Amino acid sequence: MKSEFFNQIINAIETKELKAFYQPQYDANSGRLISAEALARWEKSDGTIVTPDDFIPVLEETDAICTLDWYMAEEVCRTIHEMGEFAIPIAVNFSRWHIREADFSRKLRVLIDTYDIEPGKLEVEITESALAVEDFSLVERWATEVVDLGVKLSIDDFGSGFTSLQFVKDLPVDFLKIDKAFLADNCQDERGRGTLETVFFFASKLNLRTIVEGVETLQQLKFLQNMDCDRVQGYLFSKPIRKEDFLVIAMFDNEPAVEENPLAAVGTFSSNTALLNVIRNEYQLIVFGNLIKNSYYLMSQSDDMTFGTSTAGVIDDMTEDSMANSPKGYDKIYYDNLSRQALINAYNEGRTRVEVQVKQYYQDKIMTLFTVVHLMKHPTKNDILMVGLSRVISLGDE
Ligand code: C2E
Ligand code: CA
Ligand code: CA
Repeated sequence: MKSEFFNQIINAIETKELKAFYQPQYDANSGRLISAEALARWEKSDGTIVTPDDFIPVLEETDAICTLDWYMAEEVCRTIHEMGEFAIPIAVNFSRWHIREADFSRKLRVLIDTYDIEPGKLEVEITESALAVEDFSLVERWATEVVDLGVKLSIDDFGSGFTSLQFVKDLPVDFLKIDKAFLADNCQDERGRGTLETVFFFASKLNLRTIVEGVETLQQLKFLQNMDCDRVQGYLFSKPIRKEDFLVIAMFDNEPAVEENPLAAVGTFSSNTALLNVIRNEYQLIVFGNLIKNSYYLMSQSDDMTFGTSTAGVIDDMTEDSMANSPKGYDKIYYDNLSRQALINAYNEGRTRVEVQVKQYYQDKIMTLFTVVHLMKHPTKNDILMVGLSRVISLGDE
């Protein structure tokens, strides 16, 4: 059954019924087309078009998907070559199987040489979930080999898991491609918006560029304009289009895509960045965490304080360390207010913020901290997310 389907796909590749469509991506500031993503379409002889959701998941069950991905990669390299001096970067989707493909980077190199293209014009997209299931050292080696070629690396559907902050932090990644689920409710939902802001904050901390896909409305676009977003992609600008149509707009008609061009009006300074800088100045320690996954990431730490907290880790371990570092009696206050269980209970009681004063030993002194934790639901999963802000209010003997 599966192999019969595979044969159909191979046949579709040979008869060129399987095609690369291109969805343009736009510079979030100027509104100009600057790059694209290649997406597979199966156009049957009777003219019907099958979208990837009807064939990719079946192929992805086995490494059969690799045949299709390499076909798409070759189509993209050919397109980049044909565009000559007008070439713009184009992204290719690679499934998780490629991480274990021993000669992945060698194959990419052969394509780049064969079509004589600039390596930086080719982008590799791999999903966050693909990276999270693999062994870190394997992923790191794979990613390093890709970027060493000069090819750009993007993490697709970023934020859909929040399991891999640690992974991303230590990988040579160029772009985070933010999952379109974050744009749900037209960015009107305050908690969803908060989570999106956190993802942008995370990206800026790690000096990663950002792409937001699935932009469908002006409202979403306006919201994104206040963030440090580099590229936007979505039906508001263009659906995935045929190669012929893509070449025309990319090479001859590269005008801003939205009529009134709301993008052009925006300066490069982001109010979001300014706000984040203010918050960083106000609080010496900012922690982002997922209470259900029991993981945290240290978003910001004042340069002149060392809290001895590791950059990322397990919330329960942080609680244990902080309790051990509390003066007598304050360990219980810490546990009752800031442990994972206490925060989950607070959230389940309908609270969205928890505020408490705690004490910690700091060098030979006792430090009093005011901590406020904001609680919110993950936009698409049943996870509870937290942002904890701590300010030092005194440092003394008692
Ligand atoms: P993806 O990589 O997340 O691709 C983005 C999907 O969002 C595309 O669906 C695109 O058409 C759609 N999209 C773009 N703008 C909007 C928008 O404004 N609103 C909405 N609702 N959707 C938008 P598509 O083309 O059906 O592809 C679905 C998935 O199939 C892709 O998701 C990708 O995971 C996979 N895929 C497509 N081509 C390939 C391929 O060559 N290789 C592999 N491994 N996977 C592929
Ligand atoms: Ca993609
Ligand atoms: Ca995606």
